[in-house]
Amino acid sequence: MATLKELIEDLVTANRVLATQGIVDSFGHVSIRHPDNPKRYLLSRSRAPERVETGDIMEFTLEGDPVNAEGRKPYLERFIHGAAYEARPDVMAVIHNHSPGVIPYGITGRKMHPVMHMCATIGYEVPVWDQRTKFGDTDLLVTNMAMGRDLAKKLSKGRTCLMRGHGCMVVGKELRATVYTAIYLELNAKLQMQAESMSKKVKFLTKGEAEKVAATTSVANINRAWENWCGKASRPYRHTEG
Ligand SMILES: [Zn+2]
Repeated sequence: MATLKELIEDLVTANRVLATQGIVDSFGHVSIRHPDNPKRYLLSRSRAPERVETGDIMEFTLEGDPVNAEGRKPYLERFIHGAAYEARPDVMAVIHNHSPGVIPYGITGRKMHPVMHMCATIGYEVPVWDQRTKFGDTDLLVTNMAMGRDLAKKLSKGRTCLMRGHGCMVVGKELRATVYTAIYLELNAKLQMQAESMSKKVKFLTKGEAEKVAATTSVANINRAWENWCGKASRPYRHTEG
């Protein structure tokens, strides 16, 4: 079992990896559930992910109240994280980002499906949450638990959910696997757009294929990518067995 210190280092690495891979820019965030207290989560203070350091990592209750603020300002949209942990006991990591490729799928009605095996962990069909349906005209930010819970409801049992006119959320049972899904969600968006511009009869992975690939995506697979991403982000790699 990894220590809390190791998991916090991994969380800092996740911030840097998502930035170097173009999934987050100056905005977007990634959290983990606290390993010793399932009713808490760990998330950076409000800062661009590429700049996040261990001293930025704060602890929150699931309702989004900081436990150890010490003058640090939290992200406005932290409620995305707490509501996902509250709704889904299986979820151990949450990412929220605005990567450009996913945006068209939130606003056109075009459904996103996996187009290649590496992208299967996004799920067979990616749901779209429209904040306006329940909350009317807003600034599109998820700034309270009611909004976070409504988004988590749309996420349902899946790993990914798009947010209309805003971005997406990605969840997973483990941090590295969640980063992997976020990176391949963006790649899928780009590839699907290319394929659909070439043909009206795109052959997506079937539901059964997507489920089989996701079930056989191993810790070794994910660590192969993680080690490479750590190198690109100039972060140390910690090996894990799975
Ligand atoms: Zn956002």
